[in-house]
Amino acid sequence: MADPRAHSPITELNHLDELLRQCVQCGLCLPHCATWLATGNEVQSPRGRLLLLGEMIRSSGTETDTNATPNAFLQAFDECIGCRACETACPSGVPFSLLEYGQLRAAEIPPHRLDLPVPAVPGAVLRRMDQPGFLEFLSQVAGLVRGVLTLVAGKTWRRRLDRGPAGTGRLVRLLGSLPTSPRSDAELVRMLDGLCGRETQRRNGLPHDVALGASDNPSAGPRVAFFRGCANSGLLSDTSRRFRDLLSASGCRLEEPAAQDCCGALATHTGRPGRSADLRRRNRDVFAGALNEGTVIVAEAAGCSHELKEYGDEFRTGVVDAVVLLAGLDLPPLGSVPLRVAYHDPCHARHGQGIVDEPRMLLTAIPGLEIVEPIEPEVCCGSGGAWGLRYPELSDELGRRKAADLAATGADLVVTSNPGCLGQIADGLRVIAPDVPILPLTDLLWYAVLIRIDSTRS
Ligand code: SF4
Ligand code: SF4
Repeated sequence: MADPRAHSPITELNHLDELLRQCVQCGLCLPHCATWLATGNEVQSPRGRLLLLGEMIRSSGTETDTNATPNAFLQAFDECIGCRACETACPSGVPFSLLEYGQLRAAEIPPHRLDLPVPAVPGAVLRRMDQPGFLEFLSQVAGLVRGVLTLVAGKTWRRRLDRGPAGTGRLVRLLGSLPTSPRSDAELVRMLDGLCGRETQRRNGLPHDVALGASDNPSAGPRVAFFRGCANSGLLSDTSRRFRDLLSASGCRLEEPAAQDCCGALATHTGRPGRSADLRRRNRDVFAGALNEGTVIVAEAAGCSHELKEYGDEFRTGVVDAVVLLAGLDLPPLGSVPLRVAYHDPCHARHGQGIVDEPRMLLTAIPGLEIVEPIEPEVCCGSGGAWGLRYPELSDELGRRKAADLAATGADLVVTSNPGCLGQIADGLRVIAPDVPILPLTDLLWYAVLIRIDSTRS
């Protein structure tokens, strides 16, 4: 589908009008739109936003005239999470690029003219969120503060601070939504053993890092260039290590270009297109050689793989999401994991890249595991990168709605494949279903391989 931004103003206007006419206002997209589900407000639905866009165009007579556009219109676009669930649901093929166009127009308005919410965290913090070192520091501080709050206020600190004075809710949100996963292998094994009701000799004496071992056929898999991603390397570095271990154990020949940088998605989310373009340029240079040699680029986070595919045609074909790569590999034998597991589809995977079957294929391959499906798998969890920090109350509501949907499946465990979703849903589950943990899908797969290795040794 053509991108309306690719056209000159007058052609653009004609093209926008043509695309807008594709919307027959049937409303079938509404039950898939997270902001409409949370508010019931037509203005916060895809159909309402498209009507507003049409109105903006008609009232200006030229290209969308943002000076003449009321705040309410612009806010409707700013409040769109950009999850693309409406695009997947629409039977008329209305492209998300229309909503994105509205978002870009809204972003051009000087902040003083907008009555938009103040971000939940200062701009200086937001601007550094694409630096792994800073994220790691933030995560350590958050872990410390969470630990102190649990000591002082007990496990219900989240609920108690939520009811506290205005402002504490935003602090609590930031503390709660930073993604975490077991740091050491021993911690991960202990946690999953506990869930499975499994006694293990590994509970004590498991070293910090356990390598799965090289593949029996070390050149069977593809050559893979690993894209680190700032959230994964800064906040989930041990999960990343286990993922690379899994790739090596599956016969992949791994390389990790040193000079790579953030994919640029966070800079885009925080209104810094210049930095985003700069990061794209740098990454293109770093990975160009790998692509020329036919090496596939794998990104662990669905948000990164989606963003990298937007770099251009060669990246669209050369980049593969971690879950898709794993589903096509000859994985080592997997041990039994007798758990009911619900998978949360990140929007960047399900709507951005059409990845639906692959994570389920991987889960189905684990003996003893039962997949349970939520009622609303296509609805966004409300993280939206920096969006959730600008709209903390709405984001909280969506996170809890998602947590309730996942918990209602009766799952023992939730897994997903994007760090933003991991933190957001963990935060919701802490309130809705504190006994249901959430993990990266790759951590669960790594555990299933380890369990099998254990069973063959004993
Ligand atoms: S965007 Fe598509 S699904 Fe939504 S109202 Fe328009 S035609 Fe219907
Ligand atoms: S992108 Fe998501 S939040 Fe925005 S209108 Fe579509 S479904 Fe709603």
